[in-house]
Amino acid sequence: MSTDLSSSNNGHDTTFVKIPTIKFTKLFINGEFVDSISGATFETIDPRTEEVTARVCKGAKEDIDAAVKAAREAFDHGPWPRLPGTGRAKLLMKWADLIEQNAEEIAALEAIDGGRLYHFAKNFEISASASTLRYYAGAADKIHGEVFKTSGEFHAYTLLEPIGVVGHIIPWNAPTALFFTKVSPSLAAGCTMVLKPAEQTPLTALFCAHLAKLAGIPNGVLNVVPGFGSTAGAAISSHMDIDKVSFTGSVESGRKVMQAAALSNLKPVSLELGGKSPLIIFKDADIDKAADLALIGILYNKGEVCVASSRVFIQEGIYDEFEKKLVEKAKAWVLGDPFDPKTQQGPQADRNNFEKVLSYIEHGKREGATLLTGGKAVGSKGYYIEPTIFSNVKEDMLIAQDEIFGPVMVLMKFKTIEEAIKSANNTKYGLAAGIVTKNLDTANTVSRSIRAGIVWINCYLTLDSDIPFGGYKMSGFGKDLGLDALHKYLQVKSVVTPIYNSPWL
Ligand code: NAD
Repeated sequence: MSTDLSSSNNGHDTTFVKIPTIKFTKLFINGEFVDSISGATFETIDPRTEEVTARVCKGAKEDIDAAVKAAREAFDHGPWPRLPGTGRAKLLMKWADLIEQNAEEIAALEAIDGGRLYHFAKNFEISASASTLRYYAGAADKIHGEVFKTSGEFHAYTLLEPIGVVGHIIPWNAPTALFFTKVSPSLAAGCTMVLKPAEQTPLTALFCAHLAKLAGIPNGVLNVVPGFGSTAGAAISSHMDIDKVSFTGSVESGRKVMQAAALSNLKPVSLELGGKSPLIIFKDADIDKAADLALIGILYNKGEVCVASSRVFIQEGIYDEFEKKLVEKAKAWVLGDPFDPKTQQGPQADRNNFEKVLSYIEHGKREGATLLTGGKAVGSKGYYIEPTIFSNVKEDMLIAQDEIFGPVMVLMKFKTIEEAIKSANNTKYGLAAGIVTKNLDTANTVSRSIRAGIVWINCYLTLDSDIPFGGYKMSGFGKDLGLDALHKYLQVKSVVTPIYNSPWL
């Protein structure tokens, strides 16, 4: 691994990019930026420098109540759910244009809030978020039910209606992409909403809310309340006036969200949770390409990715060659300031995750796995961790079972296709999986046998607005993306009427 941390500084400007002044740190409720009712604030920290970037207003239960009141009013009496789909689409398209026009500023906020690569965000991720908005804008005027041929003299049809006020709760690992994954389909459906960004990364959600206002999204439709999970988050899941919660985060918090929903108004919940995704490399694979896929699968976004290929299974016969190639590539991986165009991996998003990842690495060593490369923190400040690869890993080791959410890969060997399937499924999670092979039969057999919500064959991490995304097993339920996600925010009403001359008239 090569390291260049020389350009890290105090978080206000770098050799590479002039960092913008942070403009939005208040709660966004009913179209206005307001202080929290208690006046409380919290710090957001730059993971490159460990210094305070901004003080952000800290939403709590009473602020969620105010935001829900605004969203309820906008849903029950405002124009948004009553606009024709084309009307909503027009404003969503305008918002998407503003997102792209402000890509540099949003990308800079992603880097200083979550340690994410500035150039990747600017050139790819932000426009992908705008594309997600446009995808759902395109669907907004194609929401319709079905007509039924009933067994009696009745005319029956369904109406698809927006579900109401939605509560969105998102994590810190991809703040802008996850923000748009949640708000785009729910806005297209005609819902109004309250979104709570993660306490570690509140800045992009607030900035994008400001752009929503500029685009003309009516007041109260989108409310953004930064705050902590146990207070603001819990107030969303238990709120009697929220009609649905869409949650992305850990299994532990997802369970609490579901409990709170069950104990309040029985609102439907969708959960996008963690993963421990297998990547299975068969001996007919191109070893060089397979090593690239394995590396990007775990090191993209410093392993802070729910679908990270954290368990790599390699077929006997190519294990040693694959391992050698992988280690060579990992050693050449560039760790550094996320504003530097050469950097491939920035700092972990926050101290908690940084320490958690390092403690898993220590655990792996104690469990007897062989550390092939990496394993240490880098630099005297900032949350940088070397790309880390363990070999000789046993399936029951903690590092092979727990989601580490960092740049830590474990390698395991298999002999037969049956063994690979069994081992890949040996996890409580079921978010994603990858297969590398030239054999179509192998690819077909394995893709149908893996219990995961998405399977990549000879690629990894390929996501698109049109591809449904979500977990099996304890990785959650209820798809994000694709038209499945639009339907999460709609409910079906059946309407039945006797037809003319019916004996029932
Ligand atoms: P987390 O569950 O601690 O936090 C996620 C969000 O939930 C935050 O906004 C937090 O404030 C909120 N929260 C915490 N406790 C809550 C509670 N009791 N009630 C309501 N809200 C609460 O998760 P994290 O550790 O910050 O995020 C990483 C996790 O997210 C990983 O497990 C990762 O795999 C998962 N994730 C999943 C996906 C996916 O699409 N499946 C995508 C990204 C991240």
